[in-house]
Amino acid sequence: MTTRRPTTLAELDAAVSECRACPRLVAWREEVAEVKRAAFAGQKYWGRPVPGFGPADAAMAIVGLAPSAHGGNRTGRMFTGDPSGDVLFRALFDVGLASQPTSTRIGDGLELRGTRMAAPVRCAPPENKPTPAERDTCRPWLARELELLRPTLRTIVVLGGFGWQALMPVLATAGWAVPSPRPKFGHGVELVLEGTSELRVFGCYHVSPRNVSTGVLTPLMLREVLTAAARSAGLN
Ligand code: SF4
Repeated sequence: MTTRRPTTLAELDAAVSECRACPRLVAWREEVAEVKRAAFAGQKYWGRPVPGFGPADAAMAIVGLAPSAHGGNRTGRMFTGDPSGDVLFRALFDVGLASQPTSTRIGDGLELRGTRMAAPVRCAPPENKPTPAERDTCRPWLARELELLRPTLRTIVVLGGFGWQALMPVLATAGWAVPSPRPKFGHGVELVLEGTSELRVFGCYHVSPRNVSTGVLTPLMLREVLTAAARSAGLN
């Protein structure tokens, strides 16, 4: 993180967008942005760290692991422009947390209601796998984001076991009491953490094309977790 701690989410978003702390990820994100996928050859890729998305007074957060090479790394917005995001935004719209069922690009009119999206790793990693060192280097960004959200934040939905593992130390850094040994991920798991405010963390299978196409995660299962978390956050 920069030497000056961001004091607002807008400051944090601007600062994270400029981060170059992980040489391998900087090289990868920029190479992908240069080479592009054929289907997006005419587009200018973002090619930078992807900041959080959603209101600064969110009561609920949705956390995956990292942006995808041709999704967030292309569009500059979390889960935007890839098949995982298509499933997620459809469900968010269905349960009343998104203003429209699709998320295609910054400026497409999408707004989230009381919900912010963020990730423990902000740059697209090769094969969707950040190294432990990269994950640790990126930790202060999400920790600060959660600290800034803390006055209003009541629930987090974590998509997938890798995101869950990465999030637990972030929550500890941000001031919540995470039990030891660390709680295990599972779909439907609900964890209550004490801190200056109580936080409920919900596990949900990742919205990956593989999970969705094999029925590991159905749209109904996703809506159920989102609905439970939103209710816990006072959003429905
Ligand atoms: Fe910076 Fe995080 Fe990207 Fe590493 S992964 S360069 S710490 S924003």
